[in-house]
Amino acid sequence: MRLRSLAFPLFAAAMLVLPSLPVPDFWITQLNYIGLYALVSLGLVLLTGVAGLTSFGQAAFVGLGAYTSAYLSLTVGVSPWLTLFVGLALAVAVAVVLGLLTLRMSGHYLPLATIAWGLALYYTMSNMEFLGKYDGLLGVPALQFFGISLADERAMYVLIWIVALASALGVTHLLDSRPGRAIRALKSGSTMAEAMGISTFRYKLTAFVLAAMLAAISGWLFAHFQRTVNPSPFSLAKGIEFLFMAVLGGVGHVWGAFTGAAVVKLVEDQLQVLLPRLIGTSGNFEIIVFGLVLVAVLKYAPDGLWPFVQRWLPARPRERDWEGATPLPTRDKPEPGSMLLDVQAVRKQFGGLVAVNDVSFSIRAGEIMGLIGPNGAGKSTTFNLVSGVLSLTSGEVVFRGQPVGGLPSREIARRGMSRTFQHVKMIPEMTVLENVALGGYLRTSSGVTRAMLRLDRDEERRLFAEAEAQLARIGMTAQMHELAGNLALGPQRLMEIARALCTDPSLLLLDEPAAGLRLKEKQALADVLRQLKAEGLSILLVEHDMDFVMGLVDHIVVMEFGTRLVAGTPAEVQASPVVRAAYLGTEH
Ligand code: ADP
Ligand code: MG
Repeated sequence: MRLRSLAFPLFAAAMLVLPSLPVPDFWITQLNYIGLYALVSLGLVLLTGVAGLTSFGQAAFVGLGAYTSAYLSLTVGVSPWLTLFVGLALAVAVAVVLGLLTLRMSGHYLPLATIAWGLALYYTMSNMEFLGKYDGLLGVPALQFFGISLADERAMYVLIWIVALASALGVTHLLDSRPGRAIRALKSGSTMAEAMGISTFRYKLTAFVLAAMLAAISGWLFAHFQRTVNPSPFSLAKGIEFLFMAVLGGVGHVWGAFTGAAVVKLVEDQLQVLLPRLIGTSGNFEIIVFGLVLVAVLKYAPDGLWPFVQRWLPARPRERDWEGATPLPTRDKPEPGSMLLDVQAVRKQFGGLVAVNDVSFSIRAGEIMGLIGPNGAGKSTTFNLVSGVLSLTSGEVVFRGQPVGGLPSREIARRGMSRTFQHVKMIPEMTVLENVALGGYLRTSSGVTRAMLRLDRDEERRLFAEAEAQLARIGMTAQMHELAGNLALGPQRLMEIARALCTDPSLLLLDEPAAGLRLKEKQALADVLRQLKAEGLSILLVEHDMDFVMGLVDHIVVMEFGTRLVAGTPAEVQASPVVRAAYLGTEH
């Protein structure tokens, strides 16, 4: 464990003393390029590997950073340190505009838009008189650091690698934080994250902007390292190469960016010498080799090369450092017996199918209500209408005295409603504890900057103490460090309940929580639900298991074919001949 926490400082120290050792200039130059490329592919790790958004246009952001600094420092005479911030501001502005236009669309719009943006910027740079057209800008001034010139490549090396290592550390910190978990949740679709109060659009934009910033910093360094800029290093082909580096190195891993950058840079140089000799004419044949390698990587090692390196590094489980942390703030709770949820004639039509047909019911604070009915009766759809996951065709939902129909699910979550899903929705590659901590999103506030600088540790401790407490409640502390994807279905459902509880809800919506549980687990779950009720929590429960429901709930609503069939106490419902015929008759 200690070895692992020393791995980064040792690596960073080794990298930074390198230029003072008798390493040939050639290797220093190579490492400079590797550092510059790694910065760009680090952005792609965040954007593509973690958030699941593909960009071919990162080279254009590099160009934006490089040209901005070259032009301003050369022609206008602005200090090269200031131009960094101008370049960053431009990259952020462009990324925000591009993101606002494309990130809401699904599927292939973002990759296509980044290709268009990559081409557009390339041709702009190539055709602008004031940017020197295809020749670019020559004689870009070197950076000065308190009177020391960074014209020397060994001096530039130090700057490039300080920036690259700091960025790697920042992204590592980010991924292990509140905003980082929100970004990691993006790949699994937006429904669950939104139901936990996370604006998925905001975090897509965040990832896109951060990737653009990393590329722009790389461009700034590039301009003052090469001391000249021209359009060719910022072409679409280079954008594709950056993506290739990330995928080859391991697009889901911070150090995959560095591995990929190193391997591509070193192999590319070899191939540029070797291939023309083999083929007999010169040309960019390495592209063909890279294409073939990419196909092989995607087929045989879709996670890239880094995991093969990682296997030799000692693993580091999350330290349990939250003992005695101050509890997170709690919400004000509704008055026991007051009207909590009033569902008024909600309706949902999917084309010609009326899945929920003007269904009404209400829950008072402190009650457990059961929603039962045969498969396809419309129970889950009703849940989705109440929690804002689906939009209402008509009707209204009033929660704690306020109409919430038509609000997005994250707004309804903010008002104290939390839910689980019939088909478990989780982040399989996060631990159980991290998944549960997603539920505490709205009770915490750290943003990207705090996370990168590790100023969020106190809040994180409070959050993880809460997550662990909720897991303890359902008897799952033993599994808290396991990856959620490795759990059996039953424990996954329990984990979802803990996640919903972590939001500190006033109303808990559970969609078939006991499905897939063993008898003992069911009994334990029923005990937990009774205890929650005793603590004043209100619960709306969809369940198939009659025994489970009957012993637990205060009221039952029976649905069939989208309509409300009967409502009443468990005894009334059991005695109802209509229910026997319609529901019990078909199920048993
Ligand atoms: P239950 O949870 O009671 O088993 P559901 O609410 O899942 O039932 O489904 C009710 C009906 O609505 C079913 O006929 C189902 O096929 C249909 N349905 C549910 N979701 C959709 C959807 N997104 N698009 C079209 N039909 C749907
Ligand atoms: Mg259902």
